[in-house]
Amino acid sequence: MLKNHLHKKNGMVSRFLISERGSSMIFFALSLIVIAGSAALVTDIGMLAMEKARLGNAVDAATLAATRAHLERPGTERTVAASYLEKNGFPGIQFNLDIDLQDNTLEIMASEDVPYGFGRILGVDKAIAHSRAAAKVLPVLSMTHGIRPFALSDMPLVFGASYTLKNGGGSGYTGNYGAIALGGNGASNYLDNIVEGYDGRLMVGDQIDTEPGNMSGPTYNGVTSLLADCIHNPKCTATSFEPDCARLITIVIVDSMAVNGRKTVKIKGFASFFLTGVDGQGKDSVVHGTFVRSITSGEMDEGQSDYGLYGVRLIQ
Ligand SMILES: [Zn+2]
Repeated sequence: MLKNHLHKKNGMVSRFLISERGSSMIFFALSLIVIAGSAALVTDIGMLAMEKARLGNAVDAATLAATRAHLERPGTERTVAASYLEKNGFPGIQFNLDIDLQDNTLEIMASEDVPYGFGRILGVDKAIAHSRAAAKVLPVLSMTHGIRPFALSDMPLVFGASYTLKNGGGSGYTGNYGAIALGGNGASNYLDNIVEGYDGRLMVGDQIDTEPGNMSGPTYNGVTSLLADCIHNPKCTATSFEPDCARLITIVIVDSMAVNGRKTVKIKGFASFFLTGVDGQGKDSVVHGTFVRSITSGEMDEGQSDYGLYGVRLIQ
């Protein structure tokens, strides 16, 4: 009797223990599902964030490139944007491209489906990554590299028209033929500035000196060297040139070059020309260039006068 009772008691104890163990197991299993589910969600959300960042970078690059294309080769904006999106890992992605001519801005919007891996367990099979970027074009206020030592007096310039960037003997103002002294003076400094470009910082409002004298030899040699330095095939022309062509030069626009001898003149802006030739020998080297629109990496300003040389900046 006693034995029986004890046995019964033991049985109750073990049943109690088994049921405790059972609920622990269930709790453990549920916890695992919650943990795994959270981890899955975190993984998918992390992947989505990474994809958004990658798409953002690609859209930024495409927007800058398309804005440059808009200025340099109007009509090619979409093709250029698509090629930049492809280069940055998004071949064939759908995108909208808007150009606001009033505000000088270009905007690209792109979106992409990002498939969920673990999220499918919870019934969510994808998310959409969106990206939007806009770039603005503004006239350049300062330059820090590559300025050539020629200057034009401030005047309305016509795109596609040919200008004389440096005159020959007898045709300049008294002693000034269109040359300026940058970072020093003298013929050898002037020649270096033609071939290499001046790398100091020049800003609108800065006072610079003219470089009087005909400087015919260095002018002819420097410009001939630049003309021969177009490495592109087919060769660049004033209507179709590569942005990195040696024949595309930036010069300064000043208040007036009608000064006598070495004088200080004031920078009004920067303009780009495609070098088309250098005529004459002896004292008559005349430099010709076609006024073109161009893009540079200089500092920009909304209020700066427009001389056809622009910087491009992402605005959002
Ligand atoms: Zn070229």
